[in-house]
Amino acid sequence: MNIDAAGNVRGFYFADHPARPRLLLGSHLDTVPNAGAYDGVLGVILAVALLESLEGRRLPFGIEIAGFSEEEGVRFGTPFIGSRALVGTLDDQLLDLQDADGISVRTAITNFGLSPLEVADAVLHDDTLAYIEFHIEQGPVLESLGTPLGVVEAIVGQTRAEFVFLGRVNHAGTTPMHLRNDALAAAAEWITGVEQTAQSTPGLVATVGRVEAKPGAVNVIAGETRATLDLRHRSDDLRARAADTLTRRAEQIAERRGLQLERRVLLNQPAVAMDPFLVDQIDIAIRKTGCEPYRMTSGAGHDAMILAEKVPSAMIFLRSPGGISHDPSESVNIEDVAKALECGSHLIDLLANSSLLQARTTRA
Ligand SMILES: [Zn+2]
Repeated sequence: MNIDAAGNVRGFYFADHPARPRLLLGSHLDTVPNAGAYDGVLGVILAVALLESLEGRRLPFGIEIAGFSEEEGVRFGTPFIGSRALVGTLDDQLLDLQDADGISVRTAITNFGLSPLEVADAVLHDDTLAYIEFHIEQGPVLESLGTPLGVVEAIVGQTRAEFVFLGRVNHAGTTPMHLRNDALAAAAEWITGVEQTAQSTPGLVATVGRVEAKPGAVNVIAGETRATLDLRHRSDDLRARAADTLTRRAEQIAERRGLQLERRVLLNQPAVAMDPFLVDQIDIAIRKTGCEPYRMTSGAGHDAMILAEKVPSAMIFLRSPGGISHDPSESVNIEDVAKALECGSHLIDLLANSSLLQARTTRA
């Protein structure tokens, strides 16, 4: 086991022959404030348990386990700092990011006793076949279906934007209803439209998570209202169309009510497809455990979307009791963990006999 320059904990289990490629398993070790005990770390522990279950049996590929650092982006405001080092995108700009105390990623790495100059050495080995990540679902879908395991087909793309409705501040008592330009009422009309659009579009999730009205007094008509939008879907096309529709609707509402509208896009992150071959293999492995695999989309980002830039990647989700995550009440059923482990064993056997490995071995 060693710790690379980005703070990722890495270990390696040798193959039956030194010339063999390797399979990468992992997840992240960091978490959020007031977190649960399973987000990320369960995926790392499952990988270690999977190796233990081999009882020393050697495979036609090595297995590398990575426990990624800084996936959540809590400290520096940018997620996936650890896994980005493996695909070679932990660049100077990221290393210069600062936390709330003005400490840069670079300095934090040095303070931890590692060398930022060696970040390039953390990159994936050329012989890496694929990346597989176990993770709790962090949502209610598997529980609602009464099934323990899901296979992720894609990680959603995301749009984040801020809409500002600009009306006119005035007296709440003396201004008749037909002579108002109420920025908060306009935003409220738009927000219910956002919810309706998502409800009528399969797979789309849309959230207005923050609203700020100014001046914010009980007896004053709001002159300015800021509302955020978080829009996610597995299809980038559909997400772009939904963003256009919601922007048009905001413009129409603003125009009808005599308001100005400003819009700022904060994030436009494409969806990431998981590797179809691996998805099929995971589907088979889940069936072998006696469970019905559920093919699903991940609504949250994960290290797998970063690794997918360089190697075939896929994820297996474990049911989240109550659908709860990022909270101390986050949990997992012990029987589901056993099923995940069993699925992992089947998957390793399937991959050992797969065309993925054969193609790689012939090339080498
Ligand atoms: Zn996570």
